[in-house]
Amino acid sequence: MPLTGVFFRPQSSIETADAALIGLPWDGTVSNRPGARFGPEAIRSATLGIEDYSPYLDRDIAHLKIHDAGDIELPFGDTSAALDMIRREYAALVKSRPVALGGEHLVSWPMVQEMYERYGKDLFVIQFDAHTDLREQYLGVELSHATVMKLITDLVGVENTAAVGIRSGTSEEWNILRRHPHYFGGIAGKPLETFPAFAADTLRGKKIYLTVDLDIFDPGIMPGTGTPEPGGITFREFIPILRSLIKTDIVGADIVELAPAYDHSGISQALAGTILRELLLIIGSKS
Ligand code: MN
Ligand code: MN
Repeated sequence: MPLTGVFFRPQSSIETADAALIGLPWDGTVSNRPGARFGPEAIRSATLGIEDYSPYLDRDIAHLKIHDAGDIELPFGDTSAALDMIRREYAALVKSRPVALGGEHLVSWPMVQEMYERYGKDLFVIQFDAHTDLREQYLGVELSHATVMKLITDLVGVENTAAVGIRSGTSEEWNILRRHPHYFGGIAGKPLETFPAFAADTLRGKKIYLTVDLDIFDPGIMPGTGTPEPGGITFREFIPILRSLIKTDIVGADIVELAPAYDHSGISQALAGTILRELLLIIGSKS
């Protein structure tokens, strides 16, 4: 069997796979520094340099059958067309609980729409991010990586979302965030250490969609992103959160906003690849 670009694993068919991934190399609405379109390629190549085994989860990628659906070729300059194409391709994978590799954060929107159509009010979206992404519009545009959580929150309801690590936004966005029922870490959120208890209580019975905007991490360990924001979390702080998600029912996830050109050291890519490993292990392992 041919080896693919992730973890040197053989390619599995979508029917037999334990875990699936797809690349969404698109950064059409980024407001600061572009380059997230090169994220999927960089994350795949980072997986070739890290271990298959996760000591954090005591699980091994070598025990998983992985289907890599490859990258969707997306049209820059036509946001609606790109989002429609993502939704169409994603619909074919959705049963496999895919991990999607961005790309900028707006790519989450068509995927959450697809999940909402499937799971309705059972869907719960967890946002890991430095930014609120709750703008009504950005420079007059309603479809933007700065509005993605506004779109998602209006669809699923704020009570069916959690915001983790947020430390940047407009005063209007902060007015919303300060009243958010499930805000952890960041500036005014509940302590990050309380997230595992929240996962055990509130997330029980929910269908979870995880969106990991990598700028949640401190720029010291994640410089390779378009909109770096000081004061971010460490990977060590993220580990208990990951572990607490093992017992939840994750139906899909994405890793967005890696812009590898801003990090020649490769540490951002290594972190993104490690997060992909952990997500695949959490979603794909039968426990
Ligand atoms: Mn974001
Ligand atoms: Mn962000």
